[in-house]
Amino acid sequence: MKTVIIIGSGIAGLMAAHHLADECNVIIFTKSSYKDSNSARAQGGIAAAVASNDHPRNHFHDTMQAGKGVNDKGLVEMMTKEAVGLIHELEDAGVAFEKMEGEYALGQEGAHQHHRILFANNDQTGDAIMMALWNQVKNRVKVYERVSVTALNVNGKEVTGVQTPNGVWAADAVILATGGVGQLYAFNSNARTATGEGMYLAYCAGAVLKDMEYIQFHPTILKSPQAVLISEAVRGEGGQLINSQGERVLRHYPKMDLEGRDVVAAVLHEALLNGEQIYLDVRMIKRFSERFPFIDRACKEEGFDPMEEPLPVMPGAHFICGGVEVDKHGKTAVERLYAIGEVACSGVHGSNRLASNSLLEAVYFAKKCATDILSNVEQKKHGYGSEQQSSQAHALPSRQALQQRMMSHVGIKRTTKCLVEMKAWLESYRQFPTLQRIPLEEKAMFELATMITNAAIEREESRGTHRRDDFPNESSSWENQSIAFQHGMMSICKRGG
Ligand SMILES: Cc1cc2nc3c(=O)[nH]c(=O)nc-3n(C[C@H](O)[C@H](O)[C@H](O)COP(=O)(O)OP(=O)(O)OC[C@H]3O[C@@H](n4cnc5c(N)ncnc54)[C@H](O)[C@@H]3O)c2cc1C
Repeated sequence: MKTVIIIGSGIAGLMAAHHLADECNVIIFTKSSYKDSNSARAQGGIAAAVASNDHPRNHFHDTMQAGKGVNDKGLVEMMTKEAVGLIHELEDAGVAFEKMEGEYALGQEGAHQHHRILFANNDQTGDAIMMALWNQVKNRVKVYERVSVTALNVNGKEVTGVQTPNGVWAADAVILATGGVGQLYAFNSNARTATGEGMYLAYCAGAVLKDMEYIQFHPTILKSPQAVLISEAVRGEGGQLINSQGERVLRHYPKMDLEGRDVVAAVLHEALLNGEQIYLDVRMIKRFSERFPFIDRACKEEGFDPMEEPLPVMPGAHFICGGVEVDKHGKTAVERLYAIGEVACSGVHGSNRLASNSLLEAVYFAKKCATDILSNVEQKKHGYGSEQQSSQAHALPSRQALQQRMMSHVGIKRTTKCLVEMKAWLESYRQFPTLQRIPLEEKAMFELATMITNAAIEREESRGTHRRDDFPNESSSWENQSIAFQHGMMSICKRGG
């Protein structure tokens, strides 16, 4: 039997485990409790053109529009076509999507032309999917909770296993399902697990990281210590962004509060820079606490009653469209190494993810990579390989200082001055070698911050989530170019090449 190691227990990891468990020896390592992930936080839902007046080609169109045309067209086509079937597979696995009179109850989110967001357990869709998948796999695979993978072992061009603090583990295939990098920013919606080391591990093993400059900021995060995300589905139900005078902030935009995330986040950012305070008014939504019980409760715990007063909000880091470059099966440049979910850059999101497409991407690629492993990965007797050495250890800034700098210098609106300052600040740390053992999370955050900054400097245009003050428009010369990192080098390559 083949041994497959999955790193991460979010929806991508659990879904892959579900597909593989009957035919492989599956081991999951997850660095916190199994449920501690961005997946468990997902509120709005999962997108699929299930409505009778909708069609996968509309979903395709909206995804391409949001991504500003630089998405992988073929993959978007396949994913949106297969979405409805994947919803049925989730139902078979035990996910109970909300229905009304026998039809799916569908939410709407920014930049979707149709109601096509399926949700489960109201605003706790991610948690509902996680629980169903967990129940499917918990007795069929071995799960090690609170065990971090600290290195990938590589022999020549192929991955042979992983290292954890408990030892070395051999595998016929390794799946990275380690999620995103939201914790790089001081204000973010992410779980504390989202520190990006899966990307860094893949990079050290020889994989390509690309599109790192495309960081999506979510417009409506409650301005409070717990930074509660207020789903776009709330605006889909009629919630309105207003300023202190009660004026609608997006009144001059055609789709108003349902403009794409990049647009809304940029408008709010500008308003905040001008000293305005922004609020999300949800008081007109009937039965808010029934439709959004989690958000209602979380806001109240932070001292805000959504029915009593508009909620103070601001944008925060939410999602990375870039990551480990993969093909249509989720395969990376390193043999036997796969990457799925937010850690991967499959190209389906282009420069800006359409709301509720990331759970879909996770489920889609979990299936594709499992199918590839079952049919094409040979079981073989191999040695353990060896850990790929990362670059020489040097001093690092504190995590807090890094997060604050990323927010102020590499945030929603980027200027050459700030980016160059950030690059110099990061580089200054490389001059101080240290013999101290640097924790992987800190090292990964530093290296990924450097790549995001360097790519943001290089891309002299504004596109999707990447907005340059000094290059405010899209540039046709950048349209077909991706910025990639591999073997310590940054290169500009033809998109899809
Ligand atoms: C608040 C919030 C709301 C969202 N709402 C939606 C939504 O409504 N719809 C939608 O489509 N998307 C939504 N998203 C985005 C979506 O939730 C994520 O993109 C998606 O869940 C990522 O899934 P994943 O399995 O790739 O990663 P995650 O769910 O983040 O899981 C990563 C896993 O990897 C583990 N891990 C990381 N590093 C290591 C290591 N070194 N060793 C061992 N384990 C490791 C973590 O502990 C975790 O278990 C939301 C995100 C947030 C933060």
